[in-house]
Amino acid sequence: MSSGNDGRELAEGYLGGLLESLGLGVHYSRAERDALFYRDAAGAEVAVLDLVGGYGSTIVGHNHPEIVRYAKQLLDQGVPVHAQFSRHPYANDLAGRLNTILHREFGTTEAYSALFANSGAEAVEIAMKHAEFDRVAKLTALTAEIGRGVEAARAAIDRGAVVAVDEAYHRLGVAAGVSPGAAPEAVVAAIVRVNGERATAAPIFLAPEGSFHGKLVGSVQLTHNAGFREPFRSMAAQCRFVPVHEPEALAKAVESARTTLFDLVVAAGGVRVVERDLPVIAAFILEPVQGEAGIRPFDRETAQRIQRVCAAVDCPIIVDEVQSGMGRTGAFFASSHLGLRGDYYTLAKSLGGGLAKAALTLIRDSRYHREFELAHSSTFAKDAFSTLIAGRVVDLLEADDGALYRLAAERGERLTAMLRTLQDEFGTVVEDVRGAGLMIGLEFRDRSDSPSGIIAEQSRAGLLGYLLSGYLLRVHAIRVLPTASATNTLRIEPSVYVTDDDIALLEKGLRGLLVVLREHDGAALLPA
Ligand code: PMP
Repeated sequence: MSSGNDGRELAEGYLGGLLESLGLGVHYSRAERDALFYRDAAGAEVAVLDLVGGYGSTIVGHNHPEIVRYAKQLLDQGVPVHAQFSRHPYANDLAGRLNTILHREFGTTEAYSALFANSGAEAVEIAMKHAEFDRVAKLTALTAEIGRGVEAARAAIDRGAVVAVDEAYHRLGVAAGVSPGAAPEAVVAAIVRVNGERATAAPIFLAPEGSFHGKLVGSVQLTHNAGFREPFRSMAAQCRFVPVHEPEALAKAVESARTTLFDLVVAAGGVRVVERDLPVIAAFILEPVQGEAGIRPFDRETAQRIQRVCAAVDCPIIVDEVQSGMGRTGAFFASSHLGLRGDYYTLAKSLGGGLAKAALTLIRDSRYHREFELAHSSTFAKDAFSTLIAGRVVDLLEADDGALYRLAAERGERLTAMLRTLQDEFGTVVEDVRGAGLMIGLEFRDRSDSPSGIIAEQSRAGLLGYLLSGYLLRVHAIRVLPTASATNTLRIEPSVYVTDDDIALLEKGLRGLLVVLREHDGAALLPA
């Protein structure tokens, strides 16, 4: 039977070729805990220490025996995967347990509703869509109020009232080209026109520089990496990326986005132009530990400033915990270390226990619109199989009074201590070691001026991290990969079950790599 491929790679063949050239084109056939296995040319199984962990999806490891047993049990009992538009008590149960955790970690009692998704990017898009739904509702209320104000002003004008020429009038004049002597009807017409234009403008999102929030049409615009974002910019609302570590930057960004609608008020027999703030910013979104920007944790002071600036203008905060959440940093929510309270939280990746595609968005009651539940849905979201598995993952994390959170913190410290020793020893090669818990970045110094042509060339092409990953895989059977937008940083995100032996193996492999780099031995980095 013809395969239909005619010898061609038809499943992302270009990517396959790239992986091959970097020595990363391996087919893994089995996975367990922090190990992936492939078969060599002779058919023997080779174990690889996997520190990429599905880019942070395997906080409880690959194929955790309890999760696998539970998945089999669910299938054996014929759990209905597709039962849309019916009751889903298990989803309510998961939402309840997540609320318990959220209340404990943030010291609040406010309820958060859960909306279910299939992926991290979709969870982000649910938050984006809901934030826009909320913004439009506020805008609709505001324009209705302005409509009533304008009608009252019209009536007053008919009775002979005049429109006061003051500063707001002049600003309207600048926006709409009305001069101080204009007829009152012309002022009213200008207000209606300018408001109409401003109220229908696209919303703005704000995010820290370096942000990564997915690659769907909407979420990719919140992803700072221009290569992912730029080709699609005309397809969705735009994001302004803010250097939030500069103390005034966020307040300035908020101020520069500020837009008003004009209104008319009748007072003391006259009519005055006034301006009302238009809710133009839909939301501020951030990752408590930036993942794809090179594993960069936020500091408490910056987080608190973000919270204050957003609160002052009633801008909702979306906390994207897709990668940092589910215990990876030693608490279920990484943002809880910062005291950063979100209006929205997005969860995915490890929520599915490394086995299921589970994702959801939590939305706080004080912002929640119930009607939105009919505005967003997806065939597989909230299915019994993945949702029940997510519940079991939460059980595992919460067991023994949070033993796995403590383990994540302890293992993270151990790994970081080892990496810092290497940093001290190889200061000319290692730029930085940073992270939180089991979300660790190892940054290499730029090598664009290396005397080795191979190293210099790959560095300039932004491929150094991939070249290093290929070497570690081929020579030391260790799987690491660079972060998507900062390719000189290797991510290290194992499960909580990473052992001392695994850490020792990593130390040995990295030591070998660091010597190669210190000696500019480019040939050693390439596949034979
Ligand atoms: N948000 C963050 C913080 C992420 O790290 C990622 C994936 N790296 C996403 C969203 C997108 O998740 P997914 O790949 O499941 O769409």
